[in-house]
Amino acid sequence: MFNNKKFNGNKFKYAIYYSLIIAIVIFVLNDYINGMKSERIEYSDFVNYINQNKISEVQITKDKLLITPKEDSGGKILYTERVNDPDLIKKLDNAKIKYGGMPEENSAVKNILTGWVIPFLILAFLGRLLFGKLDKKMGSGVMSFGKNTAKIYAENETGVNFNDVAGQEEAKESLIEIVDFLHNSQKYVAIGARLPKGALLVGPPGTGKTLLAKAVAGEAKVPFFSISGSAFVEMFVGMGAARVRDLFKQAQEKAPCIVFIDEIDAIGKSRDGNMSGNDEREQTLNQLLAEMDGFDSSKGVVILAATNRPEVLDKALLRPGRFDRRVIVDRPDLKGREDILKVHIKGVKISHNVDLNSIAKATPGAVGADLANIINEAALTAVKNRRNEVEQNDLEEAVEVIIAGKEKKDRILSEKEKMEVSFHEVGHALIAALLKHTDPVHKITIVPRTMGALGYTMQLPEHEKYLNTKEEMLDQICVMLGGRSAEEVKFSSISTGAANDIERATQTARSMVTMYGMSDKFDMMGLESIQNRYLDGRPVRNCSAETSTIIDNETLKIIKKAHEKAKGVLLDNIDLLNKIANTLIEKETLMGDEFMAMVHEYQKENGKEITVIEDSDV
Ligand code: ADP
Repeated sequence: MFNNKKFNGNKFKYAIYYSLIIAIVIFVLNDYINGMKSERIEYSDFVNYINQNKISEVQITKDKLLITPKEDSGGKILYTERVNDPDLIKKLDNAKIKYGGMPEENSAVKNILTGWVIPFLILAFLGRLLFGKLDKKMGSGVMSFGKNTAKIYAENETGVNFNDVAGQEEAKESLIEIVDFLHNSQKYVAIGARLPKGALLVGPPGTGKTLLAKAVAGEAKVPFFSISGSAFVEMFVGMGAARVRDLFKQAQEKAPCIVFIDEIDAIGKSRDGNMSGNDEREQTLNQLLAEMDGFDSSKGVVILAATNRPEVLDKALLRPGRFDRRVIVDRPDLKGREDILKVHIKGVKISHNVDLNSIAKATPGAVGADLANIINEAALTAVKNRRNEVEQNDLEEAVEVIIAGKEKKDRILSEKEKMEVSFHEVGHALIAALLKHTDPVHKITIVPRTMGALGYTMQLPEHEKYLNTKEEMLDQICVMLGGRSAEEVKFSSISTGAANDIERATQTARSMVTMYGMSDKFDMMGLESIQNRYLDGRPVRNCSAETSTIIDNETLKIIKKAHEKAKGVLLDNIDLLNKIANTLIEKETLMGDEFMAMVHEYQKENGKEITVIEDSDV
């Protein structure tokens, strides 16, 4: 790490502060001690002393008379104010007392000290106290305009290489060229090729963008500078721009190197269409654009930036010659997840029964950071259970912890609630088992979890899916509504336990109507679009209010139909529902195969074919 200049400068400043404070203390103490050595008397007493011949010497200053008494007065000097007494000299002469003036005290120095230096120092001290606190709060120096404080992290060797990044093969491929360029830029210069200046890594949080940037630096064996976009923008206008300048200056001194700007959207947001302009951000962005144009890429400085909101970035930032390359770092697929798990399990002792493929299957949608977390959670669980290696159970438990939170053992459900939860969960599971276009049930449990679930049913797809058919989506909605339907079928009453199911079912049904062209009414008309694809992926409606009403009606139609279908299936199989739910109350957790065995057994016993209501058009 660097930035030690600042520290030396501070030392010097502190030395001056301290010596001044010591000087003042000495000065004030001196005055105080002098004060202790003298005693004030009234002028009348002074005249009496003259008359009584008690004084040996008098020194006359501008405003005081310093009196040395004949008798020993404990080393003290007496003094009195000099009053307008024209006979003073005469009186002293008559009493034959020695008298004289005194060189003016170093009052000029004293005046300057008391009038200027001390107030100034007090102000400076208060200022430091105040701004120092602010500095700490903001994490950087208000007083140190434009200086890059410790915000930049520089590493000479990142120690990370491409082998540490798994499941991002395409991204790695695009970055290999940059590594080669940093290795031998002359090759590119010789042929007259324009060298890449920057690449934008785009993807959801935790997919390994920072890791990839570090790996590029590690592979190329060049220093790695990293700073967060938000670190540029501070309290004062102009500071961000100065920081950008400073960053580029430092980078060019250390070339060849990689500069990594994380969350570049913090400064790179589009400038237009924003009424409440933010001067500081704009200035910082302008400076960044200017610096990117200005620096000579043949020296081997490559800027990598990461964002999960590429759509908000200013167009100027993305034009050729700046961040003209876009490297997508998306969520890993099944193989990618398995590879990432393999990378992270390297340093962990594992038992022979560990099957990472099944863990990868159980974690669709998980990003690298989640998977790293799962391995770590599993290792922690193994330690907690006093084992010295990680077993498959630990990993599976870790997956559930990430999905649903830790088991909440202290939450005691009443018998009635337990029964309700059990029927609710078996409702989901049965619908999943009995309908055609659904994923198999992996686990049903009624052990409460910290993230709010009182129980849950876990389904796992057999294969990684990239497309969903309309039938699959309709059946998914049925499964989601199966919980509430079971409550209705069994208890003829309903509980609050279905809120999350309802939310998800509604969202799925709505997206069928608005985005996937799956309703007859709207044919293939797009009515919603996704914003922030790499973050929460919130849909934004772009249609009239009247159309919105029709969308709501269509959505309701789908939901009602699915609800009826779920209830129908459960009614037809009410004995099976009872049987499995009662087993679940007893065992608390049922694995997918146990559950399916019960379903098949029941079907065999009753010679019953499952009745599946045919989908009618939406
Ligand atoms: P991002 O910058 O995209 O938000 P990071 O690079 O900071 O994500 O990733 C956080 C952590 O997650 C990394 O330090 C690493 O341990 C793990 N990780 C993420 N993606 C991967 C991957 N593709 N391969 C291996 N580990 C990964």
